[in-house]
Amino acid sequence: MRYLPLHFDLQGRDVLVVGGGEIARRKIELLLRSGAHITVVAPEISDPVATILPENVHSQHASAYDPEFLPGKCLVVAATDDGAVNEAVSRDAKSLGIPVNVVDSPELCTVTFPAIIDREPLVISVGSAGLAPVLTRFVRELIERTLPERISLLAEYLGSRRRDLKNSLTDIESRRRRTEAFMESPGAELAMSGEREKADAYLFADDSCSIAGEVYLVGAGPGDPDLLTLRALQLMQKANIVLYDNLVSPQVLDRVRRDATLEFVGKRSGYKSTSQEDINDLLVRLAREGNRVLRLKGGDPFIFGRGGEEITALIEQNIPFQVVPGITAASGCAAYAGIPLTHRELSQSVRFVTGHPKNGQVDLAWKELSHANETVVFYMGLGGLASICQQLVAHGRNSGTPVAIISKGTTPEQQVLKGTLETITGLAARTQVQTPTLIIVGEVVDFNRS
Ligand code: SAH
Repeated sequence: MRYLPLHFDLQGRDVLVVGGGEIARRKIELLLRSGAHITVVAPEISDPVATILPENVHSQHASAYDPEFLPGKCLVVAATDDGAVNEAVSRDAKSLGIPVNVVDSPELCTVTFPAIIDREPLVISVGSAGLAPVLTRFVRELIERTLPERISLLAEYLGSRRRDLKNSLTDIESRRRRTEAFMESPGAELAMSGEREKADAYLFADDSCSIAGEVYLVGAGPGDPDLLTLRALQLMQKANIVLYDNLVSPQVLDRVRRDATLEFVGKRSGYKSTSQEDINDLLVRLAREGNRVLRLKGGDPFIFGRGGEEITALIEQNIPFQVVPGITAASGCAAYAGIPLTHRELSQSVRFVTGHPKNGQVDLAWKELSHANETVVFYMGLGGLASICQQLVAHGRNSGTPVAIISKGTTPEQQVLKGTLETITGLAARTQVQTPTLIIVGEVVDFNRS
C-alpha cells in the first residue's frame, strides 16, 4: 500500500491554502467542514473564496506565495494554475516535513484527498493514489447508493452506548462478539430509525435475543429494476430469504443478494397458490427462526398489496418489521406512457380503484367515479373491462372519454392500447393484451402519443 489512509483531526489547526480561485475554493470548503483554521495566500483572492472565509477566524493575504507562510502549519494545499509556484510549495513543505497536497499533481503530493462518503460520524474515504480519479468517484457512488443515510444514527448510537457496554461486559472480546451480534439483529435497524430504547433490548440482551429475525415489507415497483428505491436495494442485499409475488420481475429478482433463498408465494395459473394466511404464518415462522425476511411485492405494498394484513400478523406476533414504499403501477405506467395523472385544466383528482370483477360485475361507487374532471385508474380491471365502461357511461361519463390499457408497464414489452369508453372493450377483445394491465380513464389519456 503506497498511501496509508489516515483520518486527520483538523479542528482548530492551521492549514495553508496557496491559491484563491475556483479550485482553491473547493478545497477550502472541504477544509472548513473539518473545522480547520485556514490561511489563504494568492496575488488575487476571488470573491467566492473571500466570502466563505470570515476574517476574524481565517486569514487572507493578497500577495505572492512566500515560504514564510509555512512554519506552524499542519497541512499545506497548493491550488494554483502556476506550475512553478506549485512545485515551490511542494518542495518547501517537504523540506519542513509538512504534509502537502498539490491539486492534480500526485507526484508533488505527500498526501492526497480521497473521495469521501460522509455519514458523520461515519466517514469512508476512497483513494487511488491520485491515479484514477474517475474510478474513485465511481466507487464512491456505488458505496453512496448502498449505504443508508441513517447509518450515521447507528454510529452515533453505538458511540453513545460504549461506556454502558463497557460496564456491563468487562472483557473486550465479549464486547466485540455482542456488538457483532447486535449488527446482525433487528436492533441495528431500530437504532437507524431512532428507536434507541428498543435497540437497547438487543445490545444489552443475552445471546438468545440476538438471533431474532425481522421482516422487510418492500415495494419492488412496477417492473423496471431502475425504479427500485435505494432503500429497497439496500434491504435486498441484507435479507437472506426472499418471498416474492408473480408481479416481481426477474430483472428485479436479479438484484437480490446472490446467496439468498428465493421463494415464490404468488398466484400462477396451473399451480396451487399460497393463501394469504399461509404467507402470514410463513413470515412469522421464518423471522422467529432468526432470518431476515424480505417480502417483495410488486408496486407499493400498501396499494392493493395486502400489506396491511401482513403487518397485522407481524404486530400480533411481536415481530420487528419495516415497510418500504415502492412506485405503484399507476405512477410507473402513467409516467412511461406519457400520461399525467392530474392536470390543472383537465383533471383535478385521481383515484386508484380495483376493477376486479365478482360474478362478472365490478361493484364500485360509480356515481363518484363518473365526474368529467377526474382520472380513474383501475387495477386488476381487464376481466371487468366491459362492465367498467358500461357503468361509467350509465352514470353520466361521456362515452367519448379516452381510455388507455397499459400492458406490462415500464418493462421493455410495455404496450399501450388506446380507445374510448365506447370502443376500448372491442379493441381489447381483438388485440391479445398481455397481463398485468392497468386501465386509465380520463381526458389526460390523450397526452399519450403512441
Ligand atoms: N401493489 C401493486 C398492485 C398489485 S394489484 C402496485 O402498487 O402496483 C395487481 C395489479 O396491479 C395488476 O392486476 C395490474 O392492474 C397492476 N399492475 C401491476 N404491475 C403492473 C404493470 N407493470 N403494468 C400494468 N399493470 C400493472
